[in-house]
Amino acid sequence: MSAAPLVKGWCPGALRPMPSGDGLVVRVRAHGGRLTQAQARGLADLAARHGNGLIDLSARANLQLRGIRDHAAVLTELATLGLIDSDQAIEARRNLLVSPFWRQGDGTQDLACELEQALATSDLALPGKFGFALECGETPVLRHASADIRIEKAGETYLLLADGARLAAPATRDSVVPEAIHLARWFLETGGAQDGRGRMREHLARGATLPPHFTLPAICATETAPGPAITPAGALVALPFGQTDSHTLATLADLAPLRLTPWRMLLLEGLGTMPDLPGIITAPTDPLLRVTACSGAPGCAQALAPVRDLARQLAPSVPEGAMLHVSGCAKGCAHPAAADITLVARGQDFALGYGCTAKDTPDNAFTPAQLLADPTLLMTRN
Ligand code: SF4
Repeated sequence: MSAAPLVKGWCPGALRPMPSGDGLVVRVRAHGGRLTQAQARGLADLAARHGNGLIDLSARANLQLRGIRDHAAVLTELATLGLIDSDQAIEARRNLLVSPFWRQGDGTQDLACELEQALATSDLALPGKFGFALECGETPVLRHASADIRIEKAGETYLLLADGARLAAPATRDSVVPEAIHLARWFLETGGAQDGRGRMREHLARGATLPPHFTLPAICATETAPGPAITPAGALVALPFGQTDSHTLATLADLAPLRLTPWRMLLLEGLGTMPDLPGIITAPTDPLLRVTACSGAPGCAQALAPVRDLARQLAPSVPEGAMLHVSGCAKGCAHPAAADITLVARGQDFALGYGCTAKDTPDNAFTPAQLLADPTLLMTRN
């Protein structure tokens, strides 16, 4: 049996890149979840000149440049693009997810800017994966995305939510950002973080009791990730496996400013028609939307096999409405939750499970050749 995957407990940043199987991964946190056209073009150019040309869109709506060789040169150019923080601690705290569906004048971007500044000037030593989500639409769309403290709008007022809690706290436009910072401080002061790790949901599950002003029922949100569509805010397009290349990114940047999403999708701001380009998914029925796969080998040093080609070839065999997760190891980075069908690399073969996560996939295995020769094996429960 292979060794347990290494859990790092922190996310890479631009100032703190993470070594990977294909060089350094440099993660860029766009302010307010938006890249101007000049910033997006600049990142595409950086990825081509200093990396291997591949760019990931992470589940926290950040862009990752892969295979970076000259980190110092990248930092200099990111600074010119306005995409870098003044130090590592600020970068780590500025972990903010913004709904891509904001509309001009709805206050979302102002609030995002205010929250980013409040985080930058605070002294909070939050765990590396601790994050915030912000949305001002009528129906929350980020509830399934990773965040510990959520700001939502309810009519003319705001709600502050602690991830995992059923009750929310009311707030006003003026109080919501200080209240969010206060909640993060409460998390730390009540023992939510240990050894630089900890999440709100786990803290509450261990019995932590929220402050008494958390009294309002949180609006129920059932929506999961949307599909490619023309939305009032622009054209929402998907990236296969959440990855694109420098050429495609540059082409998209020529069309519109880009809003980053946690759903492996980009929103082309203000665009009212779907772009006709290779390398993006524009049809909600595309089979590639039914599969998810991590970097696998050789991109990830922990991977026990390549995964994306297998996932791509198996995609047409995945029934509509189902999700296949192909993981390079038991860590399950691409889809930590349970999937309808899960394949986990073990070396020569892949363990197959149903309704489970990559961590608890049963010991029922097939080689890639067997699966490709007979994809119905995917649907064959023992
Ligand atoms: S799940 Fe994939 S990306 Fe994550 S550590 Fe394992 S092989 Fe690497």
